[in-house]
Amino acid sequence: MEDLNRVLEKYEPVIGLEIHAQLNTKSKAYCNDINEFGAVPNTNVGPVSLGHPGTLPVFNENTLKYAVRLGLACKSQITRDMHFDRKNYFYADLPKGYQITQDKTPICRGGEILIKGDDGNEKSIELTRIHMEEDSGKSIHDIDPFDTLIDLNRAGVPLVEIVTEPVLKSANEAYNYLTEVRKLVRYLDICDGNMEEGSMRCDVNISIMPRGSKEFGQRVEVKNMNSIRNVAKAIEFEIIRHAELIEKGEPILQETRNFDASTNSTVGMRKKEDAHDYRYFPEPDLTPLHVSQEYIQAQKDSLPPLPNDLFKKYQKDLKLSEYDATNLTDSKGIALYFEELIKETKNYKAAANWMMGSIKSYLNQNALEIEDFPIQPETIAQLISIIDSEQISNSVATQKVFPLLLKNPKQDPLNIAKENNWITQNDSGALEDIIATIFKENPAETERFKNGEKKLTGFFMGKIMQATKGAANPKTTAQAINKVIQNF
Ligand code: ADP
Ligand code: MG
Repeated sequence: MEDLNRVLEKYEPVIGLEIHAQLNTKSKAYCNDINEFGAVPNTNVGPVSLGHPGTLPVFNENTLKYAVRLGLACKSQITRDMHFDRKNYFYADLPKGYQITQDKTPICRGGEILIKGDDGNEKSIELTRIHMEEDSGKSIHDIDPFDTLIDLNRAGVPLVEIVTEPVLKSANEAYNYLTEVRKLVRYLDICDGNMEEGSMRCDVNISIMPRGSKEFGQRVEVKNMNSIRNVAKAIEFEIIRHAELIEKGEPILQETRNFDASTNSTVGMRKKEDAHDYRYFPEPDLTPLHVSQEYIQAQKDSLPPLPNDLFKKYQKDLKLSEYDATNLTDSKGIALYFEELIKETKNYKAAANWMMGSIKSYLNQNALEIEDFPIQPETIAQLISIIDSEQISNSVATQKVFPLLLKNPKQDPLNIAKENNWITQNDSGALEDIIATIFKENPAETERFKNGEKKLTGFFMGKIMQATKGAANPKTTAQAINKVIQNF
């Protein structure tokens, strides 16, 4: 870290990310093989996936739909007329000998992802493009000691590649960017965002230049990271490595490097030539696509609420803290539940506290998702309402009514409180009688309290709560204790 800070005083990192996101369509991009993770190797492989000669691809329209929705969510410009291109290369996990992708006419141009920048303010990460393509098969090098194994289940799975401008400045910004993209694809329900399973993958392009310089340094590309945290680690490692090379007067090679999670370092994999010779040409087996304005509008009209919009709404309109807004929008399910809840109550802070407190702990303890949560938002709103009207105390609500509601979600919270005598006692006369009894039963403590030992308030409060089963209103009780002790 010390090394990194020293380097950062002198050099400015420049980072651009390329994210490949596997689209969770039911079938593959150009044939009806099933698109699923974790199937027995080489079972979802028809003749098209296997690249048999004479087979023809058929475009899966959901690929287009998902890509358009992503582009709209990023405020990209959607390309209305486009075609696919062949990117030719030879590799064992690419049986056709080419990948169907988009070179000259990506489905989306421009757009942005908003993140929290290093200065704490919102920062726009500009996108260069988003294009549609297909995944290759998977080469497995670490099962057999001698041979590479090939699994072609993944061949032909639809992908979008999201490319940023070189505008990220640190490991932390890259971390925030990836977190936002993952959240977005999950909200849109187009990709599960699972980096561990490879359904979202990230290549990092990184260079450094002297602070104040306008001219970018030589970049390298790091691949093969299976977590957002590892992307951040790879960036920090590279920043230091580049600075050391520059200080030693050695060149930074234009190369592709691999991240090794066991050592948190990167190793050179292959030198990258300036221009790849992929011999791109328009894919002759697929017709060009035309996207109508109506189609785009229909997608726009059916977008779900987006995480950044909700984040802003919670801070600006509901006046919640940044912390609350972040937690509430972390997952779509929680946000959607909260959206329902705030239709029923205007006490937004209480609603947020219920979400992040009792509800989340219950879900965590039982390994459940919010979709499995049995209590309806209206019922939680009723609970908030009877706390606000001081009919029950907050502790009775969380510790007593809530657990009973979990067992009987259809019950009315106020009825539960009434049936169990948990309605707050605001009747100070009745309270004073209870307090007097407690003073009598605890003469030693009462004497000390009378003599000014204020910390005994807690002791008496506890006794009173016990006697009233938690139903005494704390404020009324505190006042009543002080009143009764005067005349005792
Ligand atoms: P490719 O990796 O296929 O050569 P590009 O040349 O379009 O593709 O660049 C890919 C990524 O590299 C983009 O995200 C871009 O922002 C980033 N990039 C380009 N130049 C630099 C640089 N000097 N330092 C860091 N990132 C860079
Ligand atoms: Mg690249």
